[in-house]
Amino acid sequence: MKIKVVKFGGSSLADARQIEKARDIIMSDPDRRYIVVSAAGKRHNDDDKMTDLFINCHEIKDDEIKRKTIEDKIRTRYIELVKDLDVDFDVEKELDYIFEKDKNETHVDFIASRGEYLSAKIISKYLNATFLDMAGVIIFGKDRKIDYDTSYANIRTAIEKVENDYKDESVRIIIPGFYGSTEDDDVVTFSRGGSDITGAVVARALNADIYENWTDVSGVMFADPRMAPNAKPIEYITYTELRELSYMGANVLHEATVYPVSKVGIPINILNTNSPSDKGTMIIASIPSIAKRNVVTGIAGRKGFTSILLQRALMNEEVGYLSRLLKIFENENIPVEHCPTGIDTISIVMRSEFLNGKKDRIIQKIKDELAPDLLNIEENLSLFAVVGEGMVYHKEVIMNIFKVLSEANVTVKMIDQGSSGINVIIGVKDSDYESALRALGSLQDIS
Ligand code: ADP
Ligand code: ASP
Ligand code: MG
Repeated sequence: MKIKVVKFGGSSLADARQIEKARDIIMSDPDRRYIVVSAAGKRHNDDDKMTDLFINCHEIKDDEIKRKTIEDKIRTRYIELVKDLDVDFDVEKELDYIFEKDKNETHVDFIASRGEYLSAKIISKYLNATFLDMAGVIIFGKDRKIDYDTSYANIRTAIEKVENDYKDESVRIIIPGFYGSTEDDDVVTFSRGGSDITGAVVARALNADIYENWTDVSGVMFADPRMAPNAKPIEYITYTELRELSYMGANVLHEATVYPVSKVGIPINILNTNSPSDKGTMIIASIPSIAKRNVVTGIAGRKGFTSILLQRALMNEEVGYLSRLLKIFENENIPVEHCPTGIDTISIVMRSEFLNGKKDRIIQKIKDELAPDLLNIEENLSLFAVVGEGMVYHKEVIMNIFKVLSEANVTVKMIDQGSSGINVIIGVKDSDYESALRALGSLQDIS
């Protein structure tokens, strides 16, 4: 028997009809025994994600009237779901407990995690499978970061126990995604979209043959399909390429998903719950030689960066100049994303949110400590990653990037070829984000 860890995202579990589709997928393969579930997502464009409603509930805790409206919305949706699936589960009792407990919680994490908890409870009833909570199993440290090794060991122990108790290895286990807890049972969530990480952590713990990630698109597309509807699915992509794309905004998979599975080479297969026979995308360590590949594998972009440019004559001769500059950002606890340099210029690119409340102080420090001849701040930048292993050997890529962007009337504010050679980072104004995305989307045709 193979070990398959399967994760269903929010849209795949948004209502009874979607859960039926997930059930058919699970039941069609006896190897699909470890099932990680997300909170119910949107049923249509204007709908709510359950996680958003739960978080919202916590945020307006002190406004009783508003809170009641949201609580009622949550109740109605779950009551309807339980009724449509015809499962024997007292969801109202669970919700009473959740809303009451949240009132005394300082962190949002407990209530934010309840969408996954309830999905797993309801689906385990529906499938006649076993629910396995991840509080006390996936462990977060005092810094609220996951302790991978302890979590892998705990998952193995917990699953062995379930299988021994049932004396049946074919038992299916339903695991809520997105959260674990500290050693003293305080629930902690991953960042948003984090059920993907739970799937990867479970796959790694069990040394799975495959991690199937079921979502609402037939794989990772060349570009975000919401803005580039002609983007085609990528058949094979490496872990490294995928990480670059997800980090830069291809939120089809959480950026931290790759880490646990890539270390041991477990493939991730992105699949579509609404079209289960599509092949989807295989995410693996290296591309099989028979695979047909484009020069550029994919593109992704995100808004909200700031670039600080320093110019100083003979900067190249001043030993330690860059290191002193980086130290300023380190002392302010600001992660630096990119640092393109020229002979007498350096740019530091970071997410704008990290500069909140610190910008003026940092500028003053740079002036005092580094005395640049010119200091220029460019805010509201979008960064795009054009990603492809082996792309560096194709000079036409850079040429095409400039060509398609200039045809779309987009000015390139920054360009940086990553030293790993698998990506080119391009900075444009936030207001050019959509045009740039569409223009770069046409790079899928370079062969
Ligand atoms: P799930 O609820 O299954 O976790 P998500 O909404 O988190 O699903 O991720 C799937 C969505 O990611 C797609 O519906 C799509 O809108 C978006 N997306 C962004 N970039 C890409 C891309 N390059 N390829 C595919 N989907 C993408
Ligand atoms: N439900 C969580 C979220 O909306 C986690 C996930 O869906 O992966 O962020
Ligand atoms: Mg997701």
